[in-house]
Amino acid sequence: MKKIPLYARILIGMLIGGIFGIIAVYTNTGWIVDDWIKPFGVIFLKLLKLVAIPLIFASLITGISGLSDITKLSRIGFKTLLFYIFTTIVAVTIGLLFVTTFKPGQSFPEEKRIELLSKYSQVLETKTNVIEKTKSDGPLKFIVEIVPDNIVASASNNSNMLQIIFFAILFGVAIVVLKSPKVEIVRDFISGINDIILKIIDFIMYFAPIGVMALLAGLIVDYSGNNPSQSLKLFETLGYYALVVILGLLFLGFVIYPTFLRIFAKFPFKNFYKEMFPVHLVAFSTSSSAATLPVTMEQVEKGLGVRNEIASFVLPVGVTVNMDGTSLYQAVAAVFIAQVFGIEMTFFHFLTILFTATLASIGTAAVPGAGVVMLVIVLNAAGIPVEGLALILAIDRPLDMIRTVINVTSDAMIAVIIDRNEK
Ligand code: ASP
Repeated sequence: MKKIPLYARILIGMLIGGIFGIIAVYTNTGWIVDDWIKPFGVIFLKLLKLVAIPLIFASLITGISGLSDITKLSRIGFKTLLFYIFTTIVAVTIGLLFVTTFKPGQSFPEEKRIELLSKYSQVLETKTNVIEKTKSDGPLKFIVEIVPDNIVASASNNSNMLQIIFFAILFGVAIVVLKSPKVEIVRDFISGINDIILKIIDFIMYFAPIGVMALLAGLIVDYSGNNPSQSLKLFETLGYYALVVILGLLFLGFVIYPTFLRIFAKFPFKNFYKEMFPVHLVAFSTSSSAATLPVTMEQVEKGLGVRNEIASFVLPVGVTVNMDGTSLYQAVAAVFIAQVFGIEMTFFHFLTILFTATLASIGTAAVPGAGVVMLVIVLNAAGIPVEGLALILAIDRPLDMIRTVINVTSDAMIAVIIDRNEK
């Protein structure tokens, strides 16, 4: 088993999971998957999330405290943010170009529109409630949220990653400034913890093929329920829209990113994709860039040779704020809904979508299904009916899996670019 490379083992796991799932759906034995297979997927996900916070903490402090001076950190930080915004804007623009060229919503059947709107209106209500709650917050709330008032409380919730990053940066900078023997001990201690966490991730990755197999089998069973033919029909109805999203994502991943890698880092994209393959498989099966982070960090450092001081900063921040796949998807979805409702799109609409999809993807949590919730912001700003969300909810999960792959790819690409730039 050891001779087979990791990506191949995960791939085999996915295949077996897919087959299990399909058999269970067609033989009406979904309960077996739910009771006896899916739990292993849940364990895998929990293990990944378990190491995320300690990893960010130890890795970021180790990275920063290894820097000779602080100016380098602010330079890396500035370049990183610039690249995040730049790639996100490129992603939204591609989404807009694809959706206006292929027009997936233009010939959408009227009866399907009515059917989907009534069928998913309840699910929609719960999604929009979440947004309504956050809408009452002021415009600077997200900056206030980055600063923790209790580090133990922050560490107790995986969605507070930015707060942990904030504290780790403060901690690391203080170590660099102090440079005393007492402080050196702390630095070495945390660096030791970092090594331990990396080893734990190695252990978890041994379990990845089984975890991924279980996740995928569970996903197929949950998605199809007891009526596989109905789920297939949904694909027929929303297939063209889904295809446009997928084409846009593939174009970004296989045309734009290789070009960026060549221009900004002179890095061969074949090597990049080879090393990133296991990360892609985990992102695809978990639909969460946050859960994938430990694997991304490992591959980017060990496989792509990005220095720890860069990867430990660029990747965790990227996971929370840089989501190219999500922003492209939000642009396509917004215009698709507008097309179905027969709303004439003006240049102003497109500009609003460009601006809000960029912001919304920054605010999107790196967990499954978060992108579609934040889409409400884009729809609201562009004056597109929010009920339209009901049209696309049914097919969100498979698209989420693919956009998550692009989200993690973008983070890794930027890490490589910054690393090469700093050499
Ligand atoms: N699932 C995505 C991620 O974790 C976010 C989204 O829903 O678009 O990157």
